[in-house]
Amino acid sequence: EYKGMSKERMLEIRRQNCNPMTMRVTYYKKPVFIHQGHMQWLWDVDGRRYLDLFAGVATASYLPDPLKVIYLTNSGSEANDLAMLMARLHTGNFDIITFRGSYHGGSPQTMGLTSNAAYKYPIANGLGCTNTMCPDVFRGPWGGNHCRDSPVQTIRECSCAQGHCMANEQYIGQLKETLATSVPNQIAAFFGEPIQGVGGAVQYPKNFLKEAYKLVRERGGVCIADEVQTGFGRTGSHFWGFQGHDVIPDMVTMAKGIGNGFPMGAVVTTPEIAASFTKGVHFNTFGGNPVACAIASSVLDTIKEDGLQQNSLNVGTYLMKELAKLRDKYEIIGDVRGKGLQIGVEMVKDKASREPLSPEAMNEIFEDVKDMGVLIGKGGLYGQTFRIKPPMCITMEDADFFLAVFNKSIHDYMAKR
Ligand code: PMP
Repeated sequence: EYKGMSKERMLEIRRQNCNPMTMRVTYYKKPVFIHQGHMQWLWDVDGRRYLDLFAGVATASYLPDPLKVIYLTNSGSEANDLAMLMARLHTGNFDIITFRGSYHGGSPQTMGLTSNAAYKYPIANGLGCTNTMCPDVFRGPWGGNHCRDSPVQTIRECSCAQGHCMANEQYIGQLKETLATSVPNQIAAFFGEPIQGVGGAVQYPKNFLKEAYKLVRERGGVCIADEVQTGFGRTGSHFWGFQGHDVIPDMVTMAKGIGNGFPMGAVVTTPEIAASFTKGVHFNTFGGNPVACAIASSVLDTIKEDGLQQNSLNVGTYLMKELAKLRDKYEIIGDVRGKGLQIGVEMVKDKASREPLSPEAMNEIFEDVKDMGVLIGKGGLYGQTFRIKPPMCITMEDADFFLAVFNKSIHDYMAKR
C-alpha cells in the first residue's frame, strides 16, 4: 500500500494519524522518512544516509550495595510511578521534590515530577510534588564562568576555590528554603537525574547532589536517581550517572537504554524499602517478560563485550573538547557541557546577554544539520540546547563528520546574520 506513495501523501497520513504534538516537537520542516537502520546509521526512503546522534538515549548486579531488589516495568514513566509509590509507603510521607526543568515521565503521577510546561496538561497531576530551583550554573542566577584551569569543564567539575565555585552553596541554600517553606518539613523523596536530559544536559555544581541527599535524608526522605538517560555507561567515566557525584541513592530508576529500543524499565532499591512494599500486591503483566529480559541481558553483554562505556568516554571527551573550540569561536555557542555521550550545546543570541537563541534560529540550524546528513536533538526550557546523545557505538570519524557539519552550519548562519 505504501510502495510508490509520494512523500506528500505519507506526510498527510502522518498528520492525520500521529500525535500532533510529537509532530511539532520532534519533526523537521521537511521531515525525514526513515526506512532502515543499522548501528549508528539510518537510511531514508530515497536511500539517503544519516548519522544518528539522538537515538541512543539507550543490572542489579551492576549496582552497589545495598541496591539489590529489582522491579521490572515497561517504561521509564512506569518505573518512576512505582518509585513514587514505594517512597511514600516506606517513609509514610507524601511530598516529593524535583528540579525545575526536569522530565521524569508523562503519566498523571509523574507529570507532577516533570517540571517543564511543554509536557504539562491541565489535569490533576502529581499531587504533592514540589519543584526546586535547578542548580544550573550557566542559565541560573549563580555561577557561569568557565574554569580557568580547564578548557572544557566549567565550575561543575571544578573545586579551585575561586569565587564562582560558591554557586554550590547558593543553590543548596535554595533547596533548604524549598524544604523549609513548601513541604511540611518531612518529605517522601527527592528525584534527580545525575545530568538533566530533556532539560538540556544540565550539570550541577560539584558536591550538589551529595549535600542535597544529606538534607533530604535528614527530613525522612529517600533519594532517587533517575538514570533513564544517564545509565548504562553513557557518561563514560561510570556505568551509572550517580557514581560521578559520589553518592549512593536509595532507589535507581531506568529505561530506554536498558532495552536498546525494546520497551523495558526498572526500579532497583534496597531490601529495607522493598520490605515496606509487601502490604499489597504489586502486579505488572508485561513487566519483566522473557523477551524483554533476554534483550536487556544481551544489551548488558554487548556494552561489556564491545567496550561501549570506554567508547562513550573516548568519543564523548573528544567531541566536547572540539565543541568547546567552536564555543570559543562563535558568539552564539554559549556553553558546551555534559559527560561522555550525554552532551548539551547551549545556543545564545550573544555571550554577554546569554539570551536563548530564538526558536526560528534554532530550527534553521537544526534543519541545516539534518540536510547535511546528521540528526541531533533539541531541549532545554526554551528549546535553546542542542542535545547530542548518539548510540554508544559511534566512532571518532562520525564525531569528526558531525563537527564539520555543525561548524559549517553555524558558520553559514553567522554569515547570513
Ligand atoms: N525519565 C527521564 C529522565 C526521561 O528522559 C524519560 C523519557 N524521556 C522518562 C523518565 C520517561 O520514560 P518513558 O518515555 O519510557 O516513559
